[in-house]
Amino acid sequence: MDAAGLKQAVLKDRERMVESLCSMVRIKAIGPESHGEGEAERGKYLAALSKQLGFKSVEVLESADPRVPAGKRPNIVIRVKGTSNRNLWVVTHMDTVPEGDVGAWKHPPFEPKVTKDKISGRGVEDNGQELIASLFGLSALLETGVTPECNIGLVFVSDEEHGNTHGIDFLIDKGIFKRGDMAVVPDHGLPGGTGIAVVEKSIAWIEVEVVGRQTHASTPDKGVNAFEAAARFAVAGVESLRKKFPEVDPLFDNPRSTFEPTKCDSNGPNVNTVPGRQTFSFDFRVLPNYKLDDIMAELRKAADSVEKSTGAKVNISWLQRADAAPGTDPKSEIVLRLVSAVEIVRGTKPHPFGIGGGTCAAPFRRLGIESAVWSSSTETAHDANEYILIDDMVSDAQVYALLFAGKNIGKS
Ligand SMILES: [Zn+2]
Repeated sequence: MDAAGLKQAVLKDRERMVESLCSMVRIKAIGPESHGEGEAERGKYLAALSKQLGFKSVEVLESADPRVPAGKRPNIVIRVKGTSNRNLWVVTHMDTVPEGDVGAWKHPPFEPKVTKDKISGRGVEDNGQELIASLFGLSALLETGVTPECNIGLVFVSDEEHGNTHGIDFLIDKGIFKRGDMAVVPDHGLPGGTGIAVVEKSIAWIEVEVVGRQTHASTPDKGVNAFEAAARFAVAGVESLRKKFPEVDPLFDNPRSTFEPTKCDSNGPNVNTVPGRQTFSFDFRVLPNYKLDDIMAELRKAADSVEKSTGAKVNISWLQRADAAPGTDPKSEIVLRLVSAVEIVRGTKPHPFGIGGGTCAAPFRRLGIESAVWSSSTETAHDANEYILIDDMVSDAQVYALLFAGKNIGKS
């Protein structure tokens, strides 16, 4: 068996992949936070499908959750032994967000619509395409009798859209992933599969409340203008952060840490009052080498100095804090293996890059597992009329097949 034969074996399953994705989408899998019933029914379908495809080791690990009718959230682990001792995981998620505004959809969101080249429906992209592609990529090895090079584990998790407690974190607590393993977490990607995300920035959303003293606008000396103090702090704050944390990392589209004042709240309805209270927010995306605690300390210094010069009180608090995990080396084995598999299928090499937001690769990186975030994406996750290109699903399945086969096939 060579690469061409393996690709052909995947291609033969094109219709079956389309049907499987559609069947999966028809079974809702929405978390209880969004008033859904969880992933139990979808999980049953996928476990049955995996057995039908001939997988012998299909394990369902359930996390107790009294909020859903089944009382538990399923996580499916499919294993195929390789010829080496290394473990390679592909982790995708079964749950989806709700449909959002139904009126914005051109068809019922959970009744997928298939055209010649596309499938649309809630969850087809996020994360259905890659779940099905990884499953059929591995199935092609079974069909052709190719033993994978590494021990392959396909993991379909619950609860990714709301915190990972009953999915990734639950499996990590069970100890199934080990330091030194490799992982592909295809929950983010670029059109045509042209990029592999290897590193993320930390995210800090910060709320600021500036308290002064309200007075008539004609007698400002009797009060303390909270808006002016807030404006001084917004500017002084970001200027000192940009100066103190100037590092540049070309892996990122925006290569610097970004420090932006964003949302500004109303301080009252009329023009002729000096406002006594002003609230606004910052959005910071910080390169992973910097610590958010250091950023916060520097911001506090700027606040202290504005307090001193204006007499206003500046209160700072976290709205959201996500500390970046250490990045995966662009020269790491999983990235190199993936680059070479994508190159065989697509004819071009994907480039490693960094992203400004968090992905669910972070918990794996923290465990010391090299993790590549990659897929061929239409970038319509969570949108109305979310869709995929069927060719992307087939190509990605071919990439997985080649990645899994590794050295155990010829490279023609
Ligand atoms: Zn997702």
